[in-house]
Amino acid sequence: MKQNNLWQETSEEKATFKLLEGTVESDITIVGGGYTGCSAALTAAENGLSVSLIDQQIGYGGSGRNVGLVNAGLWLPPEKVEGILGKKDGVKLNEALASAPDLVFNLINKNNISCNANRAGTLHCAHSQNGLKDIKIRHRQLSDRGAELKLLDENETELATGSSSFHGSLLNENAGTINPLSYCLGLARVAQSKGAHIFESSLATKIEFQNDSWITYTDKGSIKSKKLLIATNAYLSNVSGIPSSKYTPVYYFQAATQPLSKEIIKGILPKSHGCWDTATVMSSFRIDKHNRFIIGGIGNLGQNISKIHSNWARRKACSLYPSLKNIPFDYFWGGEISMTDDHIPKIYRFGKNAYSIFGYSGRGIGPGTYFGKSIAEAFANENEDSLPLKPTSNNNQKFCTIKGSFIELGAKINHLV
Ligand SMILES: Cc1cc2nc3c(=O)[nH]c(=O)nc-3n(C[C@H](O)[C@H](O)[C@H](O)COP(=O)(O)OP(=O)(O)OC[C@H]3O[C@@H](n4cnc5c(N)ncnc54)[C@H](O)[C@@H]3O)c2cc1C
Repeated sequence: MKQNNLWQETSEEKATFKLLEGTVESDITIVGGGYTGCSAALTAAENGLSVSLIDQQIGYGGSGRNVGLVNAGLWLPPEKVEGILGKKDGVKLNEALASAPDLVFNLINKNNISCNANRAGTLHCAHSQNGLKDIKIRHRQLSDRGAELKLLDENETELATGSSSFHGSLLNENAGTINPLSYCLGLARVAQSKGAHIFESSLATKIEFQNDSWITYTDKGSIKSKKLLIATNAYLSNVSGIPSSKYTPVYYFQAATQPLSKEIIKGILPKSHGCWDTATVMSSFRIDKHNRFIIGGIGNLGQNISKIHSNWARRKACSLYPSLKNIPFDYFWGGEISMTDDHIPKIYRFGKNAYSIFGYSGRGIGPGTYFGKSIAEAFANENEDSLPLKPTSNNNQKFCTIKGSFIELGAKINHLV
């Protein structure tokens, strides 16, 4: 069985874009058409800058494969962010990303992006007593910073999820779910309608800095610009002439059923919350607009669908919801997450007016949209004040391959038992 991405089959946004041919000149070149690149293209166009974005396919990377949980903040609790970055910079980043769900849902509403947006809220579910302590700490820290969250006890969590597996949960009613690929395609469509030039089947192969300009080459064309954004996160293909971003690759996969009948879906996520749990080898679960059940976990499915991970997905779904016993999972697909050592994204400045943004560490819908918008504002205003995070010229991440293999091994062992 081959990978089969549900979002590709069900995306209501269907935009396709032409190939880059010949030489083009723009204010900004963007390499990568996920949320970061498309949001940057949209904001740049709105600010009157000419912008060209290239990719093999819009939403080919994490933006077309993820769970679709539109959450606030990063994975890290806010005190940790402030501890790592220092109080002033940490508060700036926390405040910026606290508003990220508003940014995403406002863009969707304002531009009529057809992505099954459902702002019913998300639940961070405590899988153990330690998990419960973790969400209580998060609740306190986030509430102290003005977030309106509800801590649900075991019974309330059972009512909200329809599963008796959890010790409690943290409900964020400001968050929600989307079809992630549709959202990305919608952003690209809107960016193009505002004047951005979007190209598909056009991978950057070489980038050079000549006479104060960046020249980005593809197989059939090139773009000349003063400003350059590399927005490839975990998916950078071979491009000569620029440093590649360093991160630990972490694989995450999902499995989905066909639309479930009324009898089977009864009691499963009655309020359509998007959920994930507190386990180190974490899982996620949600339903889509047509009542397909979608479960996710850490692990590399490989092209031919790893039996260890796919069997775990079926077992895990039944342990959460016994009514899913014997229900087939027809979709299996995976993606790659770029994890940084401190789990904080990076704005890596590697040349004059040239940045690479990556390392969302598994929380990139809100942050990618926000960082993309901010870098476009920084280009437009010719200063970096709008950025939620100070750019760095340090691209050092340690033992990435070993750490990635270790995480995959841990996930396999966890999914075997
Ligand atoms: C399985 C999975 C589940 C996740 N779940 C969630 C979630 O529920 N909520 C959440 O907030 N985040 C989630 N994330 C994280 C989120 O998806 C990413 O952080 C986000 O999509 C990153 O967006 P991006 O635009 O930076 O990069 P991407 O979406 O990865 O886009 C990078 C693009 O660069 C292109 N590219 C690469 N090389 C070149 C080149 N040489 N020339 C041109 N283009 C190139 C690729 O084709 C790709 O389209 C998840 C990630 C994965 C993988």
